[in-house]
Amino acid sequence: MQYYSTNHQAPLADLHKAVVKGLAEDRGLYMPEVIHRLPQEFFDHIADMSFQDIAYNVASAFFGEDVDLDALQEIVYDTLPFDCPVVSVTDRIYSLELFHGPTLAFKDVGARFMARLLQYFIRMDGEEQVNVLVATSGDTGSAVANGFLGVEGIHVYVLYPKGKVSPIQECQFTTLGQNITAIEVDGVFDDCQAMVKSAFMDKELNEHMKLTSANSINVARFLPQAFYYFNAYARMKREGRADQLVMCVPSGNFGNICSALFGHRMGLPIKRFIAANNANDVFYHYLMTGNYEPKASKQTLANAMDVGDPSNFARIYDLFGGSHEQISSLISGATYSDEQIRSTMRACYEATGYMLDPHGACGYRALTEQLEEGETGVFCETAHPAKFKEKVDEILGISIDIPDRLRAFMRGEKQSVAMPNNFDDFKSYLLGRS
Ligand SMILES: *Cc1c(COP(=O)(O)O)cnc(C)c1O
Repeated sequence: MQYYSTNHQAPLADLHKAVVKGLAEDRGLYMPEVIHRLPQEFFDHIADMSFQDIAYNVASAFFGEDVDLDALQEIVYDTLPFDCPVVSVTDRIYSLELFHGPTLAFKDVGARFMARLLQYFIRMDGEEQVNVLVATSGDTGSAVANGFLGVEGIHVYVLYPKGKVSPIQECQFTTLGQNITAIEVDGVFDDCQAMVKSAFMDKELNEHMKLTSANSINVARFLPQAFYYFNAYARMKREGRADQLVMCVPSGNFGNICSALFGHRMGLPIKRFIAANNANDVFYHYLMTGNYEPKASKQTLANAMDVGDPSNFARIYDLFGGSHEQISSLISGATYSDEQIRSTMRACYEATGYMLDPHGACGYRALTEQLEEGETGVFCETAHPAKFKEKVDEILGISIDIPDRLRAFMRGEKQSVAMPNNFDDFKSYLLGRS
């Protein structure tokens, strides 16, 4: 399969190149030239299949031309040793819990799949060590670090701003050891990102060591999220509730919903989609007006969705040939203030006993407001509420239990390398390690 750039000014790339490079030469995002429809037979049997088998079928349609099928099956099975159940919250609204992976949030699946696919290509090339650099304000670092943990041939450096990451987030990437090094930068997130960018552009550094990113726009990170939606459909079909499904995705950078739209293009019978936003309403505004006007991001309670210029808008726009009419007839929007997020979390907990995290709350609320007669709604609960314990406890007036997996990270010993906010220091450090 060839991949083209959404900016159409870069050469086509094969999967190998698209995964290693992440972004095309013209700064566009890679798109597969063909999106295969899955056969009717697959949908006829989907309700009886395991998550792993469903995912393997979907992965074969995306990657089967470029990856040996036995290896692909192993990668998929290794990525998904857990289920993502669909839980009934009200009689018409279901929560698709995407938080049963290692760091209790949905980015785990893409991160692990990408790590294993990258490893597959590195081995094929007979390359020695590859180094992944990632800057994080919290969640991406933990997903990438855990996804790449123990993957031979790849070393990960996670750069994060000192004192600006919550203790629960910090322990998820600073306590791992092995092939994961946490670098605590004396600066803010933008400084971390600038250091990573400088590293990718530094000639001397790139001659000494092979550097790559694990950015969320990478095709190997975003496409596997489509597995979730096929599995959700299968679970709903088993419940006899799959007829008029509305899928609601709390969105920030729009990678997750974009993968769902790819699933739809592959034949997944979802009637329509809702993109639920916090106060960062650029996509909502686009749906309403047809104009895409990026803004600076605003800080909100649902901070993993604080994005003012969502990268994957380019993919959605391209997928529908730039047609605002097609996009807005399949997807509707919603935008909520922090106050609305709080009141939704309280109302849902009081009425149903279900604990929402601030991101999932946007999804749940959009369904309560927009679901029509005869439709069944499924929203993604993108993270376990305990990941935001301080906020959730305060809003709901409870003390939420911390799952064992999270507790285990908190017991680990913090190991990180202190780094001044200065690229030359970072460069010397990396050169000393190569
Ligand atoms: C990343 C993230 C989102 C937003 O997902 P996108 O793919 O960026 O739209 C929502 N919720 C949580 C908990 C996240 O970590």
